[in-house]
Amino acid sequence: MLMFVQKFIVGLVPTNCYLVACEETRDGLIIDPGHMKGEEKEVLHEAVEHHFKIQYILNTHGHPDHTSGNREIKHETNARIMVHEADKEWLTNAFELFADMVNADRNASMIRSPLSCTKCHTPNTELEKYAIQGMIVMHCKKCGFAPEIWISPPADIFLKDGDTFLLGNLQFKVLHTPGHSEGGICLYCEAEKTLFSGDTLFKGSVGRYDLPIGGSQEKLLQSIKSKLLVLPDETVVYPGHGEQTTIGEEREYNVFLKD
Ligand SMILES: [Zn+2]
Ligand SMILES: [Zn+2]
Ligand SMILES: [Zn+2]
Repeated sequence: MLMFVQKFIVGLVPTNCYLVACEETRDGLIIDPGHMKGEEKEVLHEAVEHHFKIQYILNTHGHPDHTSGNREIKHETNARIMVHEADKEWLTNAFELFADMVNADRNASMIRSPLSCTKCHTPNTELEKYAIQGMIVMHCKKCGFAPEIWISPPADIFLKDGDTFLLGNLQFKVLHTPGHSEGGICLYCEAEKTLFSGDTLFKGSVGRYDLPIGGSQEKLLQSIKSKLLVLPDETVVYPGHGEQTTIGEEREYNVFLKD
């Protein structure tokens, strides 16, 4: 095996961030760095310990829980930020999109909202939100919790479906999987039978499709069935939240994917 993979649980929601590298060349990639209390520094520390050269930051999509560590990692490593073009605005214009989503989320049907206060679950409509010096702050007046979400620098590289890129001697292929957000992507390495699935596919579940910007149940299920379930059973899936799984396990047991 050429691929090094280490998972870190980061940020508010919390989110899985992956440190990935080619064991031969030591070229490294950080997938979905979140930030709340500087968790991205731990990822960078681990990269230094292993003598990895971080070449890229890849955001499986533009939601702030997956991108709020971009700024610090880019600052420390000068790695290039990669995202699908359809989600690029999330990086540079996160506050407006986020505010739109928070407001629209008022009417969202699902109870499982990541936008309420993560400490005391006060609904998002009662949170005070403002942007300050490159950060979004969501202040809960009830419990005082005020997480700061850092806004990312703009992306350096726009990815589209079918693109491939090399990380040392590892080749990755980009699979565009809209439905959770319009620019959602999964990253597949055929030689290592490994898939990073972002918020598209989880162990026993799928990503939220009710979010007001870019959410679509039809698109999400179509993305999963046409792009992911066609991969070999033994493919290891590293999702954006929760535990790892395999394509075979999800094909067999995931109730969201039964017709
Ligand atoms: Zn998301
Ligand atoms: Zn609170
Ligand atoms: Zn997420």
